[in-house]
Order: sequence, then structure tokens, then C-alpha cells
Amino acid sequence: MGAGIAGASTAFALKQKGLKVLVLEKEKRCSGDSNAAGAFLSPKISKPSPYKTYLNDAFNYSLTFYKAHFPDLLAQCGLLKLPLDEKDKKRLASYEPYMHMKWEKRGEDYFFPEAGLIEPQALIAAMLKDIQVLENYSYKDITYHDSWQIDNFRAKHLIIATGSDALPFDLPYIQRKKIAGYRYDVRYHDSHLLTHNIHRELSFSHYHDEKIIIGATHIRGDVDLEEAAYQDSEGLLKRAAEIQTLKELQILKSYIGHRSSTLDYFPILGKVIHHDKTLEAYPYIKKGSKVPPQKYHYFPNLYIHNALASRGFVFAPYNAMLLADLILEGKEIDERLSPVRLFRKWAFHLEN
Ligand SMILES: Cc1cc2nc3c(=O)[nH]c(=O)nc-3n(C[C@H](O)[C@H](O)[C@H](O)COP(=O)(O)OP(=O)(O)OC[C@H]3O[C@@H](n4cnc5c(N)ncnc54)[C@H](O)[C@@H]3O)c2cc1C
Repeated sequence: MGAGIAGASTAFALKQKGLKVLVLEKEKRCSGDSNAAGAFLSPKISKPSPYKTYLNDAFNYSLTFYKAHFPDLLAQCGLLKLPLDEKDKKRLASYEPYMHMKWEKRGEDYFFPEAGLIEPQALIAAMLKDIQVLENYSYKDITYHDSWQIDNFRAKHLIIATGSDALPFDLPYIQRKKIAGYRYDVRYHDSHLLTHNIHRELSFSHYHDEKIIIGATHIRGDVDLEEAAYQDSEGLLKRAAEIQTLKELQILKSYIGHRSSTLDYFPILGKVIHHDKTLEAYPYIKKGSKVPPQKYHYFPNLYIHNALASRGFVFAPYNAMLLADLILEGKEIDERLSPVRLFRKWAFHLEN
């Protein structure tokens, strides 16, 4: 369920493995948060951490994947990262020993030649080209009897890829936050001279001579999208003008959306835990006891691919490959990604 980058990547991966796939989308394909994305593809520059390892594994995998399957949609133009101030200069310099990707120093800036961006609408359309997609589809009923029954459709496996919207099941342990954001497609006097991405707080990018993408802002807290657009619009262009001269600026289009994220920023990927049955069987999980996840109760053949935060186009193809391996080959997904960590935390806080 869901035809954003999470659902489209998963559908593509499963189709490639020979499964018959149907995508149910409540609006249109790429009409949700994926439509708002830049979509910049950048590595993570920081000290080592499990999150950095995961992100850069996903970055390398997804670039290879896009090059293999959708080379015309990928603009691998490189990223020039500009330090924000003196403190940031020192911070970036301290990361140099851990930059295990291609990079070079350009004055005070850092250039990462492998970074780039991809066009969300065209990518999702291409991924779903040979897959049946039902748009504007609102399900009435989902039940499970030997297989999933969604209204008149039957499916062996069901995958929730519904972005920042409410989940179609009551899963109280899946806790997410939303960060709203705004971005523009623009052209300006000498925009054709920009040949790579630039990042300093916000990103600029040139996409195949068609447009410059400026994005994006991060508005935390419970704001609605209209309010976020209002708060962001001027500020974003003002800050952009501090990086590039925006003479004869033409705004071609503006976009707004949410990023849905967990508190630890890892996505949520894998089998969906039946929280009531698991707690009934192992009530001491609430005291922090670590019951092995193999013993948990799961909804049969129900999976989730969600909470891709600000990096959906970096994470989704990699996650989709991991999910296809789980579904077809039983290869377990790392606990850092799977719903297990969220369930444990939620269960512990029920009594603490
Ligand atoms: C301003 C902005 C800039 C961003 N820039 C970047 C970037 O540069 N690079 C990057 O990698 N990421 C970026 N992101 C993040 C990226 O957009 C998200 O991580 C990604 O789009 C999430 O994809 P998704 O498939 O999970 O969600 P979505 O794209 O929202 O897809 C979910 C789909 O599920 C559908 N749906 C919901 N409920 C149901 C239901 N019950 N039945 C059927 N369908 C349903 C929705 O209609 C929607 O189409 C940005 C986000 C924003 C807001």
C-alpha cells in the first residue's frame, strides 16, 4: 500500500524477484511526500556511527541501483559542501579521516563527486511502469484468512508503505515524528553555470539543464503544511541568495511535504509485530527483559517500509532489497531497522 518511493522501490524489487505485485494508492503515484523531495543523494559526513554506516551503505547501493536501472534519471553531478562558519570548518576537518568515499578539498570546501540527485516523479513512474497500480483507491476492509484480503483483492504478502500518513493498522509502538519542509524549482540569470550540487544549510542543484532545485527547510513541531509554507518561503530564498546571486529569479514551482521519522532516524523496515499477543505471551518484556525477537508474535506476512526521514531516495532501493530478501529468502533484517527496537522501547515505557 502506497506509491511513494518506499512502495515503488519495494514493488520494483519484488517484481524483479518474480512476484506478482499490486500497488494500492489512495491518491496518485508520487503525490505524497516523495513529490516534495529534491531528491538529493548525498553521503553522510560525520564521525563513525551505526547510522552513518547504514546510510552510506544505502547511498552506495542506491547509486549503483539507479545507474543500472534508471541511468537517464540520475544526475550524478557531485556535491560541494561549504562550511557554515569557523566552527563548522573545524568540524568538517575532524571528519576527514572518516570520509571513506571519494572526496577532494576545493579551497575550504569539500567536493564529493559521487553525490547527485534524481527526479522523483519520473523515477517512481519508471519503477511502476510494468506494475499494476490502482490510484485513488480507498480500501474499506482488510482481514486475514490464510491470505490478506483487502476488499476483493487477495494477497499472500501485504506491505505498508504509506509514508507520513496514519498507518492502516493500530500499531501503538510505531511512534514517528513529522518534520515539514518547503522547496523550489527555479531559474535565474546564470543558473546554467551551476554544474553540481551545493550544500550549506540548504541545497542548490542543477538538474539536467531543466531547472535549479533549492531546498529544503525543516520545520519541527505540529504545524500544518500551509503554515509551514508561509513560514518558510521567504526565509529559504533569502538564505539561498546568500549562497548564489539569484538575479532575474523565476520561481517555476514550489513543493511542500512532510518527512516522517523515528526518534533514532533509522527507518522502520520488516515484519510487523503483534504487540498484544507478544505482551500477553511475554509480559516481562515490560520490565526490560530481552525476549529474542524470533519468539515474538507477528502478523502473518505483514511488513512495513516507512519513516524514511530526509533520505527516502537514498534509503528506499536499499531497504527494498533487504525486504525482498526477508520475504523471499527469510534473511532477517537488522534490529536497528526492524520494528523490534520500537516495540521494546514502547513496551518498557508502559510500566516505567
Ligand atoms: C521538502 C522535502 C525535501 C526532501 N528532500 C529530499 C531529498 O533531497 N532527498 C531524499 O532522499 N529525500 C528527501 N525528502 C524526504 C523524502 O521525500 C521522503 O523520505 C520520502 O518521500 C518518503 O517516501 P514514502 O514512500 O515513505 O512516503 P510518500 O511519498 O508520502 O508515499 C506514501 C504514499 O502512500 C499513500 N497512502 C497513504 N495512506 C494510504 C492508504 N491507506 N492506502 C493507500 N495509499 C496510502 C500516500 O498517498 C502516498 O502516496 C524530502 C522531503 C521533503 C518534505
